[in-house]
Amino acid sequence: MQVPFVDLHAQYLTISKEIDNAIRQVIEDASFVGGSRIEQFEKSFGAYINVKHVVGCANGTDSLEILLQGMGIGPGHEVLVPAISWVATSGAVSVVGAKPVFVDIDKDYYTMDPRLIEAKINKNTRAIIPVHLYGYPADMPAIMGIAKQYQLKVIEDCAQSHGAMINHTKTGNFGDAGSFSFYPGKNLGAYGDAGCMVTNDDALAEKIRMLANLGQKGKHNHLIEGRNSRMDTMQAAILQVKLPHLEKWTDLRRLHAEQYAKHLQNSRVALPVTEKDFHHVYHLFVVRVNNRPAVEKALAEQGVLTSVHYPCALPYLPCYQQYRHTPADFPVAHKYQHEILSLPMYAELTEEQIIYIADVIKKYT
Ligand SMILES: *Cc1c(COP(=O)(O)O)cnc(C)c1O
Repeated sequence: MQVPFVDLHAQYLTISKEIDNAIRQVIEDASFVGGSRIEQFEKSFGAYINVKHVVGCANGTDSLEILLQGMGIGPGHEVLVPAISWVATSGAVSVVGAKPVFVDIDKDYYTMDPRLIEAKINKNTRAIIPVHLYGYPADMPAIMGIAKQYQLKVIEDCAQSHGAMINHTKTGNFGDAGSFSFYPGKNLGAYGDAGCMVTNDDALAEKIRMLANLGQKGKHNHLIEGRNSRMDTMQAAILQVKLPHLEKWTDLRRLHAEQYAKHLQNSRVALPVTEKDFHHVYHLFVVRVNNRPAVEKALAEQGVLTSVHYPCALPYLPCYQQYRHTPADFPVAHKYQHEILSLPMYAELTEEQIIYIADVIKKYT
């Protein structure tokens, strides 16, 4: 049996007519940049997340950078980020001239451990970027409590958490702003790069909209300098087609997570742990094993493709060697980078495939 890690083509086949029509309409209108399709998608996504402002942009890295810029964060400032995430989270902080300060992750939930935040705060600290890693919400009640106490801004990195919730409130609503990616493999993915920023703050919304479109407020009225980070119109049209399917796809991801848990019970694999009221959207299904190289190899030989998110925790990447972090600085992230393994996860997966994967894993762990 062959099981790909993700199967974007299988998803396309389920919506191909709608997608083909949407793409053809954009071409026929020859309206490739800007236009009402962007506004329509921003409105639809805002209604889905239940947030006041959505500002489309080119990708989920720009969205982090623009939000930091919009909040006035730059040289001399420090921003707290989790020790495990995609490098865009910490990279955005450096790009605006500030310093990323890493916080170890919780040993059960993989998200920034709120108990370790206060020790990292000093007079230069301006913001926290919690990441809803793998689709599981970070502990926002605890993080917002600390942010309030120290008057820090909070940008939620929602690149992996479209539709994830705490007590029925969607991620993106807890902090001052949220940053989404629509990279093709994300839970809501475009057919190329795209991203957006969400906020309930009117002034911030106006500022980031200008920053993402060359500082313009209305055509040729450049109040500030900005960048060209517009969302592509073709991508907005594709996302508008896909958004109504997202809840169904999320439900299937959650069902597959249950099936994995069922078929891997009584195994030596550490399964994802979730709290009641924390709604996981399983962007990734990440387990931990002690003998990862052997398990990866066995699965690959049996036709099952896996991945690792991420093989090196952020503080130990070559690009951060100037900070001279040691394993003792982030013991959980340091240990887990060798144990985590992402199993195939997408709506079109079947229970038969999951049983097959679980059987291989049980045999080799
Ligand atoms: C994907 C991702 C990003 C960046 O999004 P792009 O659209 O690829 O730029 C940022 N943060 C996290 C946690 C991500 O997974």
